[in-house]
Amino acid sequence: MQELKHYIDGVAVAGTSGRFSDVYNPATGEVQARVPLATPAEVDAIVAKAAEAQKGWAATNPQRRARVMMKFGQLINEHMDELAELISREHGKTLPDARGDVQRGLEVVEVCMGAPSMLKGEFMDSGGPGIDLYSMRQPLGVVAGITPFNFPAMIPLWKMAPAIACGNAMVLKPSERTPSCAIRLAELFVEAGLPAGILQVVHGDKEAVDALLDNDTIQAVGFVGSTPIAQYIYGRAATNGKRAQCFGGAKNHMIIMPDADMDKAADALVGSGFGAAGERCMAISVAVPVGKETADILIEKLIPRIEKLKVGPYTAGEDVDYGPVITAASKDKINGLITSGVEQGATLVTDGRNFSLQGYEDGYFVGPTLFDNVTADMEIYKQEIFGPVLSQVRAETYEEALKLTMDNEYGNGTSIFTADGDTARDFASRVNVGMVGINFPIPVPLSYFSFGGWKKSAFGDLNQYGPDAFKFYTKTKTVTARWFSGIKEGGEFNFKAME
Ligand code: NAD
Repeated sequence: MQELKHYIDGVAVAGTSGRFSDVYNPATGEVQARVPLATPAEVDAIVAKAAEAQKGWAATNPQRRARVMMKFGQLINEHMDELAELISREHGKTLPDARGDVQRGLEVVEVCMGAPSMLKGEFMDSGGPGIDLYSMRQPLGVVAGITPFNFPAMIPLWKMAPAIACGNAMVLKPSERTPSCAIRLAELFVEAGLPAGILQVVHGDKEAVDALLDNDTIQAVGFVGSTPIAQYIYGRAATNGKRAQCFGGAKNHMIIMPDADMDKAADALVGSGFGAAGERCMAISVAVPVGKETADILIEKLIPRIEKLKVGPYTAGEDVDYGPVITAASKDKINGLITSGVEQGATLVTDGRNFSLQGYEDGYFVGPTLFDNVTADMEIYKQEIFGPVLSQVRAETYEEALKLTMDNEYGNGTSIFTADGDTARDFASRVNVGMVGINFPIPVPLSYFSFGGWKKSAFGDLNQYGPDAFKFYTKTKTVTARWFSGIKEGGEFNFKAME
């Protein structure tokens, strides 16, 4: 069995803790590798090495740093298929979807190629007579990135590219369930010219994360994962005086107005609800049609589309729509929630619980599941299922649909399908959710904007990537300067012989 390694100072280093976590092939249920889980002492040593390396990197001209980013982007492109395969092997998502995972991370690397202009400060020469004010953006030092299983390339790249472009060193702790892609990305970064030690990859679980949170050298923590862990990490990082931005879970609603293009709405729901087996923080998991007729038409249109979905391993070809969920525990949790939905009175329209695939009976597959007549008090509505389960909650009016979305504790993404610009505009303006789609199901902002939810979907300040990331990963220093009379008034300008 393959034993994965940490990536420290530009080389692969075996773990010394003696503790490991199994890495599964979710399509077969087989253990394909084991990943070492670092001890606090290992974490502290890695952080100390990063701090040593960071001084030189911070002193490197930002344009030279950006050149490393350019080469890194080129290498990611060249290794796109290899990276996608690494993702699919451990995560289970299809190869086209895995390439999208790499691509959306690469786009953030591309924006970071322009870091020098993002790092310029402000200047004012008229703070008073002869008084200049200027601000500088200086790197924080060593920062930590802690990332989830579901985007093994994109989210590590969202963390590492801006942090490093700003002159920081990053210690990345990828998910122990999908660790290989992050290691390969670090190797490519070093191949692109990144000095050893600026990107360290340490594997681990809570013990390693806590060591990062308690390490005095770590200046900032960027986390993405489930809400309870996001909240915990935010609290502990803040108590220890660190800057923290912690992004959590989601329950994304799509409102379908009676005037919507129903075929397009149904296509969008199937793609965003079941793509990647529903394991996306921007997946639409709740459809809210307005009016009985809209709801009835929508269900009619969803059923044949769902019946056509092809579920299978990524190796079965590019026409597979989605693969297995990540672990046996996850499959059990999803199946349990589907059962609770039935028990609590929702109408189960398509049932994915007993889905089985010949030759992959031990894989973690869940068939596409559709519920109708879901209400806000049911567990399937309250919990983030993170599986291929779409719930339809019927609303009488637009206001009722909007209120449902706004009362939900999560606020990552939301969407409205309508032909009416006024309704769409009203929705975008009033809804208390961070990312809004108008006739667009997964409104992940492009890399020159920034990504972040509201309410329990994010803790801390500033979003991920885009201009916000350059603020998060730098400290602002503002100088107020005045020069008293100098050489121009009191100086001797005559050329004199030496005395
Ligand atoms: P998770 O919270 O289980 O794990 C995320 C990271 O935290 C991993 O690196 C893990 O090792 C670490 N971790 C887990 N338990 C910990 C503990 N008790 N103490 C310290 N560290 C711990 O999340 P996951 O299952 O890997 O990812 C899925 C979740 O991430 C979903 O809730 C999804 O919505 C969310 N997510 C959010 C976004 C976003 O941008 N808002 C993006 C992707 C995923």
